[in-house]
Amino acid sequence: MTTIPAGTRAAVDAAREEVSALHALLVRYNLVAWTAGNVSGRVSGADLLVIKPSGVDYDDLTPQNMVVCDLDGTVVKGELAPSSDTAAHAFIYRAMPHVGGIVHTHSGYASAWSAVAEPIPCVLTAMADEFGGEIPVGPFARIGDDEIGRAIVEVLAEHRSPAVLMRSHGVFTIGPTPRDAVKAAVMCEDVARTVHLAQALGEPVHLTRKDIDALFDRYHTVYGQR
Ligand SMILES: [Zn+2]
Repeated sequence: MTTIPAGTRAAVDAAREEVSALHALLVRYNLVAWTAGNVSGRVSGADLLVIKPSGVDYDDLTPQNMVVCDLDGTVVKGELAPSSDTAAHAFIYRAMPHVGGIVHTHSGYASAWSAVAEPIPCVLTAMADEFGGEIPVGPFARIGDDEIGRAIVEVLAEHRSPAVLMRSHGVFTIGPTPRDAVKAAVMCEDVARTVHLAQALGEPVHLTRKDIDALFDRYHTVYGQR
C-alpha cells in the first residue's frame, strides 16, 4: 500500500470529512435505498480520491471509514473495500480534470427514465438553469471495470448536463466539488419526477435553444450570492 505524503494528509482528512457528511444528503433527499449509491471527492493537490466503502449502511458512515484510492482505483488508505463503482469514479477523475466530485444513485424517477432509455427533455426553466439542456442517457455498461466510466465521460463530454442517466441502471453526476455533484443528483431526481408528472398531463413543451442558453448563462453568472 502506498503511503500518503505528510503534506497531503490534511487534504485527505478534509476530503474524508466532507464526503462522509455529504452521504447524509442522499438519505435526506430520498435518493438511495439500503446501501446503494455513493459520493466521492478528489483530494485537492493530490492524485487521490475519497469514496464510500462498499455495502456499509448509511448510518455507519464516518470520515474514518471513507476509503482513499489513487486515480487507478487502488486503495491507498482504508480498512474497508471501496464502493464497487470506484473504477468508474476513478476513470472520470482521470479523464475530466475539472471534476472534483462524483455522485451515483439509483434514485427512483431518474432511474425510471434510464430504464426506458429516454433522455429527460428540457421543458422547465430549472432544467435549463442546472443542466443547460436535456439530461442525456448513456449506454448499458457493466460496473467493475473502465467500460462504464468511459461511457459516462463520452456522454458528458457532449452535453452541458452534469448528470447522465446510464441505461437500465441509474444516475451519475459530476461537479467541481462533491457538494455540487450531490446538488446535481438532487436536482436530477426533482426534474425527472416533475417531467414524468407533466407527461401524465399531456405533451410537455420543449424550451427553445435560445431560451435554454439565456437561462443557463443567467443561472451560472447572476443567480445566488456572489
Ligand atoms: Zn449503481
